[in-house]
Amino acid sequence: TPVIVAIDGPSGTGKSSTSKAVAIRLGLGFLDTGAQYRAMTWWMLSNGIDVDDPAAVAAASAKPTIVSGTDPQAPTITVDGTDVSVPIRGREVTAAVSAVSAVPEVRARITELQRSIAAEAPAGIVVEGRDIGTTVLPNADLKVFLTASPEARAARRSGELRGKEAADLASTREALIKRDAADAGRKTSPMAKAADAVEVDTTELTLDEVVACVVGLVEE
Ligand code: C5P
Repeated sequence: TPVIVAIDGPSGTGKSSTSKAVAIRLGLGFLDTGAQYRAMTWWMLSNGIDVDDPAAVAAASAKPTIVSGTDPQAPTITVDGTDVSVPIRGREVTAAVSAVSAVPEVRARITELQRSIAAEAPAGIVVEGRDIGTTVLPNADLKVFLTASPEARAARRSGELRGKEAADLASTREALIKRDAADAGRKTSPMAKAADAVEVDTTELTLDEVVACVVGLVEE
């Protein structure tokens, strides 16, 4: 039977790298749900929708067609056929994504998409996000919640951004904390650790160590 793994937690904990590597090791699909919320946000910004107007965002939320490719070696994301993998990582989308993700109609639509992708994965899938273990896939075979100190998370994030949008550590750390607070504080499906999730603090661990830990938990 297909294996479903839910990996949640804030950004900068190594969630994406870990999830991809686990999927490759176990021969599973991979779904980055943050990329779906980012793609929705990119579409809103590109179409002149006021992202701070929840009613406008809700009214438009059914319009874009978001398609995720789930090969962990080469994940893809398109909106109405356009590859948006680069622009969804930009500063504008990052600044607006929490507001768009807080709109219930957006979450309902993307959650439905996530469930159908997971149900169709032949061998199973690793799904990473904020509410996968609690809301999207409460029956997942394994739920992991990754954490790390704010300092470690900010350092990893600025490492990812280096060259592209080199931001200093202090402002990266501030933006991360602000986005986490917004993600954790929203009424619909807040970022949270499921009661049956295994918490892994990655602060002092290498990526290989985290991957080995999660693979071990799947194989238990
Ligand atoms: O993981 P990433 O930083 O790309 O996620 C971008 C944003 O998408 C998060 O800050 C959050 O607002 C939203 N998100 C969400 N639920 C998920 C995944 C991401 O609300 N399952």
